[in-house]
Amino acid sequence: MLDLIIIGAGPAGITAAIYAARKKMNFVIISRDVGGQTAWSGGVENYTGYQFIPGIELVAKFEEHMKTFAVPLHEGESVQELMRQRDMFVVRTDKTEYQARTVIVASGKQSRELGVPGEKEFRNKGLTYCATCDGPLFANKDVAVIGGGNSALDAALQLMRIARRVYLINIAAELTGDSAIAEKLKNASNVAIYNNARITSVNGAQMVAGITVQKAALVDFLPVQGVFVEIGLIPSAEFIRDVRKNEYGEIMVNCKSETDVPGLFAAGDVTDVPAKQIIVAAGEGAKAALSAFHYVAIHSF
Ligand SMILES: Cc1cc2nc3c(=O)[nH]c(=O)nc-3n(C[C@H](O)[C@H](O)[C@H](O)COP(=O)(O)OP(=O)(O)OC[C@H]3O[C@@H](n4cnc5c(N)ncnc54)[C@H](O)[C@@H]3O)c2cc1C
Repeated sequence: MLDLIIIGAGPAGITAAIYAARKKMNFVIISRDVGGQTAWSGGVENYTGYQFIPGIELVAKFEEHMKTFAVPLHEGESVQELMRQRDMFVVRTDKTEYQARTVIVASGKQSRELGVPGEKEFRNKGLTYCATCDGPLFANKDVAVIGGGNSALDAALQLMRIARRVYLINIAAELTGDSAIAEKLKNASNVAIYNNARITSVNGAQMVAGITVQKAALVDFLPVQGVFVEIGLIPSAEFIRDVRKNEYGEIMVNCKSETDVPGLFAAGDVTDVPAKQIIVAAGEGAKAALSAFHYVAIHSF
């Protein structure tokens, strides 16, 4: 049986892994990818030691650091269920099953889905959830950004410099994100803002060819080749039910990264700790690993 399983290899999980490795714990880190949301960031200006670094390069530095400790990384594996059985945890993935005395959940956040026809069908066929990652693929094309908050505004700002035309489809009466960015978008000649409008379907054959938008009684077809879904993030905590979560579905932790389940720790954006930032997630990952180490030390004979 393992001492520890870390779920997620974003800043929180990678930092937890570095601490666990330095404590010589017997552990694995399981993750769908390496880097998490940090890889989506075009530029990070608030990680101590770097005045500016593209997110993807910061991830490469994290990974390089982690790999100096020969960390057992199980990449490309997805956790389906986490259960407590007597005094141990069972983690079931899409590949196998693991058992450990402690678990750190560092699974971060994932993009909220639209839930309209065509969304699943055209995912990665013109429909994407990351403007920073995929924006450059739509040079001189027409695109739609769905949302009206900060992520949507940020995506539209990036895309208006790359794409030919940007439609911003906002369900609310006004844009709710940063007013300075909203002003820039309103003044841009290639941006059209549709307030009080909802996307009802994504259309096309092999690839996205347009979207259907409803505004009051009017239904409009907008011919676009790209759709950027930017309607917020939700905690990736669906694989664990028996733990205390807040109204947003975030796992509740105390200042030692402990959940209400003995031996179960959580760190980073998946928790109710405020300030969803890389440096905060990394710090919380460090704390969680030290708490898990302490737990194993006092519970083993
Ligand atoms: C576009 C964008 C730009 C940003 N820019 C900045 C910035 O400039 N500065 C800043 O400080 N912060 C920024 N942030 C926020 C920052 O990226 C996050 O706060 C940080 O990445 C959280 O780290 P985390 O490790 O908690 O989670 P995440 O980064 O979300 O990582 C979670 C990891 O868990 C894995 N995972 C999830 N579910 C499962 C599962 N079931 N099984 C296996 N693995 C799983 C994922 O694959 C991922 O590797 C930005 C976020 C976004 C979206």
